[in-house]
Amino acid sequence: MRNRKVVIVGGGTAGWMTASYLRTAFGAGVDITLIESDKVNTVGVGEATFSDIRHFFQFLGLEEQDWMPACNATYKLAVRFENWRRPGHHFYHPFEQMRSVNGFPLADWWLRNGPTDRFDRDCFVMAALCDEERNPRHLDGRLIGQGFSENAEEFAGLTMSEHQGKTQFPYAYHFEAALLAKFLTKFAVDRGVRHLVGNVEDVVLNQQGDIDHVLTAEHGALHGDLFIDCTGFRGLLINKALEEPFISYSDVLPNDSAVALQVPQDMEKRGIRPCTTATAQDAGWIWTIPLYGRIGTGYVYARDYLEPEQAERVLREFVGPAAAEVEANHIRMRIGRTRNAWTRNCVAIGLSSGFVEPLESTGIFFIHHAIEQLVKYFPGPGWEPTMRTMFNDAIRHVMDGVREFLCLHYLAAARDDTQYWKDTNTRRLPDGLAERLERWQVQLPDSENVFPYYHGLPPYSYMCILLGMGGIALKPSAALALADDTAALKEFQYIRDRGSELIEALPTQYDYFTRMRPGA
Ligand code: FAD
Repeated sequence: MRNRKVVIVGGGTAGWMTASYLRTAFGAGVDITLIESDKVNTVGVGEATFSDIRHFFQFLGLEEQDWMPACNATYKLAVRFENWRRPGHHFYHPFEQMRSVNGFPLADWWLRNGPTDRFDRDCFVMAALCDEERNPRHLDGRLIGQGFSENAEEFAGLTMSEHQGKTQFPYAYHFEAALLAKFLTKFAVDRGVRHLVGNVEDVVLNQQGDIDHVLTAEHGALHGDLFIDCTGFRGLLINKALEEPFISYSDVLPNDSAVALQVPQDMEKRGIRPCTTATAQDAGWIWTIPLYGRIGTGYVYARDYLEPEQAERVLREFVGPAAAEVEANHIRMRIGRTRNAWTRNCVAIGLSSGFVEPLESTGIFFIHHAIEQLVKYFPGPGWEPTMRTMFNDAIRHVMDGVREFLCLHYLAAARDDTQYWKDTNTRRLPDGLAERLERWQVQLPDSENVFPYYHGLPPYSYMCILLGMGGIALKPSAALALADDTAALKEFQYIRDRGSELIEALPTQYDYFTRMRPGA
């Protein structure tokens, strides 16, 4: 059988992640051409990830020191939510599984009689490390031991969904998106991916309605067996040429715009916070992503409530004088998903497939997940169309699940001081969420009562949001009133002690990454 010819259109994070991964998975079994335009910019944001991204780099055979300094990358232990409950309040959603005591999650014991009013500090070691801005590795590279394994071989070959529940790696990464695309360009080209710069002017279909070739001014016609649409929000192949409909989520998630700034910072003075911060605002929220040498920041908002100029003004005030000379990037977001991400001989990956707004940093996770699924169902000999259906089901589930999780953030936030926040109490909910919420109010989320398909978010993530946002009344399990809490109190004490011990022993991120840089 001859090699499969794959044409990837688009050279943003999605295009280069896909090219690198497919080439690593299939080697010379696939012949890959990636074409990217020098006239159409990449979206230029997308710098915080999920902890599972670790498996992407592992799959490519890359160690952290191979790529992190080149991408000004840092560690992310959690998302820190500020002001979602009330001004001055914060809590963390960390990469750390919830412990259980006598069959009940520690959060349940915390609801019964937690030692302090900070569920995150009482239930997770990571919250203390974030508050004290600590690095998750010692200066000699040793990882803090938190009951997870660093042994790549133990998990090699598992997809993210197979991996979930087996272990929780304690951090994700922040990185500069443009630098990662550059790094992966070299990685892929060195391994035989053909890289073209040019503009796809037309997508030509054959008589059956499949894509026959894409037409470029610079390189003529590019033929392929499989076309991968990584053209971002445009969806040039999947939505425009093949007319696959886009299903909007705007009825449940109204944020449709963002304004972003890349702000240089003196990290030696300022330090590098080991988390992404999401700070609630009058009509949305602002992200702050600390990188080595700058922060990425942006206001995500809904145009129904705020004009772009006002959003930019608020963002600039939030950042202060460091942003005075920096140009703002205004972005219109398409929130929702393409109905079938794999349609005919075209697979959409990245923003062309879908996007559920930046809260909880799921964009790159979607890309990674889609690539894994594509490898699993890749059209080799004996391929059946049912495989395309299974791919589409997996993509639909992951995005619809994340949609539900993000809706919960807005619904559960106690804040209601502006029209935007008041409306979060009455907005339509995705099917199923209202019913699940009723259950969570009497029994914290568990694997039996959250969104029933893999979507990257384990039940403890739901607990964090419910407990942290503060707008929904929760009760401990009724049974706990009858149980002895000695073991739970011991666990709270262990977490406190472990946090203090690690704060003493661990370096700051700035010190750690300064050492990792070439020539240091
Ligand atoms: P793009 O970056 O838009 O790339 C599109 C590519 O297609 C470009 O190379 C372009 O040149 C090419 N192209 C377009 N038309 C043509 C043509 N005619 N011919 C040839 N080439 C063409 N994700 C996270 O995981 N974490 C985050 O913190 C995060 N924050 C985000 C914040 C915002 C405001 C937004 C909008 C998104 C965020 N995302 C985040 C999502 C993340 O940015 C994207 O998932 C990621 O950048 C992938 O984008 P892409 O490659 O699909 O599209």
